[in-house]
Amino acid sequence: MGAEVISLGCRLNMSESEELRGLLAQESDLVVINSCAVTAEAVRQTRQAIRRARRDRPDARLLVTGCAAEVERAALSAMPEVDGLIANVAKLDPRAWNVAPARAEVRTHTRAFIAVQNGCDHACTFCVIPQGRGPSRSLGVAAVLRDAERHLALGSREVVLTGVDLTSWGQDLPGKPALGALVSAILDAFPELRRLRLSSVDGVEIDADLFELIADEARLMPHLHLSLQHGHDLILKRMKRRHSRAQAVALVAALKVRRPELALGGDLIAGFPTEDEVAHQANLSLIAELGLVHGHVFPYSPRPATPAARMPQVPVPTVKARAAELRAAVAAERARWLAAQIGAPLEVLAERDGTGHAPNFAWVLLPPGTEAGMIVTVTPTHIAEGLLA
Ligand code: SF4
Repeated sequence: MGAEVISLGCRLNMSESEELRGLLAQESDLVVINSCAVTAEAVRQTRQAIRRARRDRPDARLLVTGCAAEVERAALSAMPEVDGLIANVAKLDPRAWNVAPARAEVRTHTRAFIAVQNGCDHACTFCVIPQGRGPSRSLGVAAVLRDAERHLALGSREVVLTGVDLTSWGQDLPGKPALGALVSAILDAFPELRRLRLSSVDGVEIDADLFELIADEARLMPHLHLSLQHGHDLILKRMKRRHSRAQAVALVAALKVRRPELALGGDLIAGFPTEDEVAHQANLSLIAELGLVHGHVFPYSPRPATPAARMPQVPVPTVKARAAELRAAVAAERARWLAAQIGAPLEVLAERDGTGHAPNFAWVLLPPGTEAGMIVTVTPTHIAEGLLA
């Protein structure tokens, strides 16, 4: 048995944790916490995971990496449970762990996450990720194709491209290729790949080729998760985001004309400093206007050394109440969207737990005995606990 890797936070962390499990397959006495620092709550959960792991494995070496290991370095290294921190930027380097470079083969997953980009060159006023992950850097096309080939050879049926600021992929490579070019390269190289998915993108950075692929390419899943953050222009300005509400609305409208089955997801922050009721209502109304059915709502929490932490704060109870309103609005949008799919056949990729995901990322309960990795056609007849069934 190899190292126990406990993963918190984003899909990028999840895909890196998968790599770490391969890298540390010989390290049975090791526990690794791959932490997150995107919100104060994420840091609280990181501490909780450290204490729990120490309780469960009192004799193991316990090492912490991930964004919290950067942003909360002093506090985490002072915890008696922690034996050491591994720099986030070095966590996939065998030398950082003093292990031999020889790597055990990666385990098969029906959906393979490939981290094609890391770090970020932007400076959104609420965000610590650039502190935790450093500047933006891209995996070259050849390396991405090698990774995809490895996962497909191991039986993965869907590839998910992930990163911190995915749409900035290529900006640091010769010729500055854009994400659309990478998507085309993958689809051209692997005609057998029926499902390619994008994790989260910044709508205003979508290049023309990528727009056409999202609009027309059947093998690129009709599911777009936008890092929107807010629906009010003045707040977007104070966040130092690079888009306006109108631009987000126009992008989605233009894509839905070309691909009506496109399902929208988005990140939204509730209670950003200086947010008044008018701004909150604008945030709320964006959900129905875009038809957000996969919404991630983050109650704002001040992060260390960020400009937003020095702005006038919204009282915590108000932040929580507004987050609850946003979540309720997403849930209502999602309920309508799920109900509209009853009676329509869906191509579902079966996963290990008897469920699977449709191309639009609807979650579907599958007939017993459906083998993981199979792509099956399902015509849902009802909704059971939020899943089509
Ligand atoms: S784009 Fe903004 S929110 Fe996203 S990681 Fe970069 S700084 Fe953070």
